[in-house]
Amino acid sequence: MSPSRVYYITGGAQGIGLGIAQALLADGHRVAMTDIDEEALSAAAERLPHPDHLLTLPSDVSDETQVANSLAKTVDHFGRLDGIVHNAGIADPFHGSVEQLSLETWQAYLNTNLTGTFLCAKHGAPYLRPHGGSIVLMASSRALQSEPDTEAYAASKGGIVALTHALAVSLGPDIRVNAISPGWIEVGDWQKPNRQQPVEHRDIDREQHPVGRVGTPEDIAALTRFLLSKESGFITGQNFVADGGMTRKMIYAE
Ligand code: NAD
Repeated sequence: MSPSRVYYITGGAQGIGLGIAQALLADGHRVAMTDIDEEALSAAAERLPHPDHLLTLPSDVSDETQVANSLAKTVDHFGRLDGIVHNAGIADPFHGSVEQLSLETWQAYLNTNLTGTFLCAKHGAPYLRPHGGSIVLMASSRALQSEPDTEAYAASKGGIVALTHALAVSLGPDIRVNAISPGWIEVGDWQKPNRQQPVEHRDIDREQHPVGRVGTPEDIAALTRFLLSKESGFITGQNFVADGGMTRKMIYAE
């Protein structure tokens, strides 16, 4: 990966986004990190290496003005933009039964997870075009399979997978667009201090993954780096499932 590219990451202050930001900074790139949680942004800035290569921007990805302004500030600050990682999302897939699901909750999932994706692409594309940019969108293995009471989350992530190929066709050849569908990624120790969770997995949790373990933000960061880089220059419009093989393993109740 060539050094000193500029990347914009949404929801970068915790979890998978924080892992991606850490990896890109370690590679020598410059990172603009947005998040709706200002306390988490401050905690992330203290934790990350190379503070001079990091710009933190409070921004709600479901708000068009905030997305447009944070992208403009990124380019004002660093002088260019090479890639966008739209990772922010309402990450809890469970909202209760569909009969009880309020329209307000349904729309909250759609607004953050799916409309946020559209807004990042709409306002980021003009900055990316001159450099042959790359967009990476965070979907989920729940776009492909479900547990009960996850309709809004599943629909939002399925929408991202569809938007990925639509955007790839519209924005190519200048901009490539790909999605990552993580499976179970443990983010308990990648939170702001008052949200940290002890990381404990049972044998049954590990065994449902053919690779023998639950995933980490570093696993998703490794794939993101590749999809942002020129090494993936022949790949666009795809959805990559990174789940330790979980969605390939058949499980029958005993
Ligand atoms: P997380 O909660 O640890 O981090 C998400 C970050 O997004 C938080 O810092 C949060 O403040 C921020 N955020 C939430 N709403 C926002 C908004 N409107 N605007 C800006 N920032 C906002 O979650 P995570 O587990 O790291 O999930 C990151 C992404 O990966 C999400 O899109 C999630 O759906 C997806 N994902 C996660 C997993 C998993 O197992 N962790 C699996 C599949 C997909």
